[in-house]
Amino acid sequence: MAQPNRQEAEILLDAQGDFIENGKTDKNCPRCGKHLLHEEGKNWEITRCEVIECISLVSKGV
Ligand SMILES: [Zn+2]
Repeated sequence: MAQPNRQEAEILLDAQGDFIENGKTDKNCPRCGKHLLHEEGKNWEITRCEVIECISLVSKGV
């Protein structure tokens, strides 16, 4: 998975907020236009493109 650039990261952060608030987002991947996914673990969460080789934003320590 690749790191998003600053502009892409802002969209992923927005989408992450949507997932946390609503459990879904209507935003699409800023790089390829496909759907975004959100996954959480015990102390991490990730918002990523459904294409795993595309971009992802990982938050740790939440
Ligand atoms: Zn993508």
